[in-house]
Amino acid sequence: MTLEAITFDLDDTLWDNRGVMARTEQGHYAWLDAALADAAEGPAGRFAERFPLEAFVARRQALAAAHPPRRGDFTWLRYRALAELLAEHGLAAEPANHWADRAMERFMALRHEVEPHPEVETLLEALGRRYRLASITNGNVEVTRLPLGRHFPVAIAAGELLAPKPDPRPFLLALSRLGSHPARALHVGDAWEEDALPARRLGMQAAWIGPDDRPMPPGIHRLAHVRELPELVRWLEAQA
Ligand SMILES: [Mg+2]
Repeated sequence: MTLEAITFDLDDTLWDNRGVMARTEQGHYAWLDAALADAAEGPAGRFAERFPLEAFVARRQALAAAHPPRRGDFTWLRYRALAELLAEHGLAAEPANHWADRAMERFMALRHEVEPHPEVETLLEALGRRYRLASITNGNVEVTRLPLGRHFPVAIAAGELLAPKPDPRPFLLALSRLGSHPARALHVGDAWEEDALPARRLGMQAAWIGPDDRPMPPGIHRLAHVRELPELVRWLEAQA
């Protein structure tokens, strides 16, 4: 096949995200709790005692259920949930929004402390010389804030488009911005339902980074790790 474009999922594809999310989730919430306790104008009682982390998670889930189009816009869900809990804790609207903003700044700073797999920089550098590259994420990492962002002339935040994967629109938008076409493109990602299947349905090739070795349907290629991608790319190029 003629391969022109490669699109990449980010979380758990280019780096291991589990540790990052746990640190970020606990870190920014603990920061908010401590900052409120330090602020003289804060209401009495500890915020995180009244609303432990589980209450924040539950509020985000309730907001996502109440606002289906926003279900993939995690930044919006987090901000709204924080602002609501802060208001219920006794803050007026303006300080509640202010502290929700500050906590989100902290969240985003921690969220971007990702460590790409060591092979990723060289891999993107080499692929970027030959192919047009894009990132497509449902998460809230802004790839332009990371050093490896320079390899992606196109970066799609699918949740903020209100069309999270498996919606086909973020894939089609990425390919149209790259001036390519599904039949000449490969998508790389770790989620079966959100990366491999929707890419395949559009006629893209799909590289699925997954743990098991069950037989793959035609057009979906299993990789144990993103470092195996160059070999797959060479193989695809060699197919008629
Ligand atoms: Mg992923």
